[in-house]
Amino acid sequence: MNFIAYKARKESIRFEKKGRPSDIKIGILMPMPYSAAVNSLFFQTAYEYINRLEGAVAYRYVYDIKNDVLEALDTEMNINNLDAIFISLSFELDYVIITRILDKLGLLHKYKGYRKPILIAGGIAVTSNPLPLSSIVDAVVIGEVDDVLKDLVYVMGEDKPLNYLDNFNFISTLPIRNKVRRHFIRDLNQALHSINQFFAIDEEPVYGYGMRIEVSRGCPYLCAFCMEGHVQYPFRYRGIEGLWKIIERGLENNVVKRVIFYSLSLFSVPFMDVLLKKLKENSIEASFPSLRVEYITKERLELIRELGQRILTLAPETLVKSMACSIGKCYDIEHLENVIRGCFQYKFERVKLYLITGFPKLDLNEEINEFKRFLTKLSWIRRLRFLRIVLNPLIPKPWTPYQFLPPVAILNLVENINKYYKVAREFNFVRIEPYNYEWAFAQAVVAQGNEKTSEFIIEWSRYGFSLKGFYRVFKSIDRESVKFIYTGWSEPPWCEAIDMGLPQNYFKMRYKYLIS
Ligand code: SF4
Repeated sequence: MNFIAYKARKESIRFEKKGRPSDIKIGILMPMPYSAAVNSLFFQTAYEYINRLEGAVAYRYVYDIKNDVLEALDTEMNINNLDAIFISLSFELDYVIITRILDKLGLLHKYKGYRKPILIAGGIAVTSNPLPLSSIVDAVVIGEVDDVLKDLVYVMGEDKPLNYLDNFNFISTLPIRNKVRRHFIRDLNQALHSINQFFAIDEEPVYGYGMRIEVSRGCPYLCAFCMEGHVQYPFRYRGIEGLWKIIERGLENNVVKRVIFYSLSLFSVPFMDVLLKKLKENSIEASFPSLRVEYITKERLELIRELGQRILTLAPETLVKSMACSIGKCYDIEHLENVIRGCFQYKFERVKLYLITGFPKLDLNEEINEFKRFLTKLSWIRRLRFLRIVLNPLIPKPWTPYQFLPPVAILNLVENINKYYKVAREFNFVRIEPYNYEWAFAQAVVAQGNEKTSEFIIEWSRYGFSLKGFYRVFKSIDRESVKFIYTGWSEPPWCEAIDMGLPQNYFKMRYKYLIS
């Protein structure tokens, strides 16, 4: 079976652009299945934007993980005929998948060099730490590209595009040596937004049908464990008028009158209540991301339910008040209990809570006692598995105050997870969904990697995207190679490669405070 297959979908919208041979050909590659990839605003926006440019054509590629097949959505053309491939990587483990794809196509940078297609990776994970991609892709984008995407596309049409990439001072070619300053757009109203979003009529997207709306970027809270908040700093949001225009135009082509909000902190946007009421008046449904507990009022809860949301997702992260306040998630536990009661009254199907275990200096007994006390107070709930708890181990991420913790700390968290399970078993209205701590460990190894990690990733990817493969390579490497695993350096390697625009002292001081 061929690794790459042409698999066009029956889509809501498709750019049938008859390209000329001289057109610049850009591939947009998402290392995930189609139904997940359509949720990416970059995928949607880049496809629409590049196809509207004179003299350029965009072709999309997604990856069927289960069958290990790269699917071309728009063309049967040989992928080697592209001028460039833009790759979006939001999660660290995507590095392994993209490596497998490029390796199978014979396009890994370490073998291909700088011949076309030029491989350019970007996204939150890349902006945070591109070092593990050394020898995998040709160049990495640090930050946002809205205002330069056009120039970047045209540069790819040159015979030797690499000669021009130096003009983009937030793009690093390999080896990543010089410090690159993160680029971001200050006024979000000037940022690109897709209007004609595509999805397959007969293949429901992961978040369901509807118009994906980017309300804001960044987050005002900078929680101590949260990479997104730090890497997308500062908090910016679109104006209500601009947003409404996007919604109106986007819904003209959509099969359902439903918007799916993208925002790290939705109710930090000052006009959110007004916008929600306007949606309701216009009979438009809405889907919400996870929300901060303290923002939920009775009125908002009612409105969220009226807009068609059936599951309320909250992110308290810890039930221990002192810890919650230290990490940036201050809220009242009684308020959380009332919100859950409200969800029951307003007939939400269930409530989902995100919790993290493994904060240093937090006594496990205290954590478990709080959990038990919390569930005991909710014992009035009579619905089976009404409460879902997504339990994540603390994964130390670059550009967070916890970045100084080594990945190995995660391997000690089995006991924590087992204790949570034991308590939850006593209450039939709750179900625990833990994130596998070994995957979390693998994720941290990649997230906190350096240049040498890329060799490890290449080896791992050859065994497929599995923990078995991870451990197989992990156990086979010699002590010298193990040096790529972060052991808690005082000066993390990613800080040498990137200027995030945040003071280094902030991370050190806050870490010291958190472990004191
Ligand atoms: S509120 Fe959420 S998105 Fe914002 S910094 Fe905290 S965890 Fe991150």
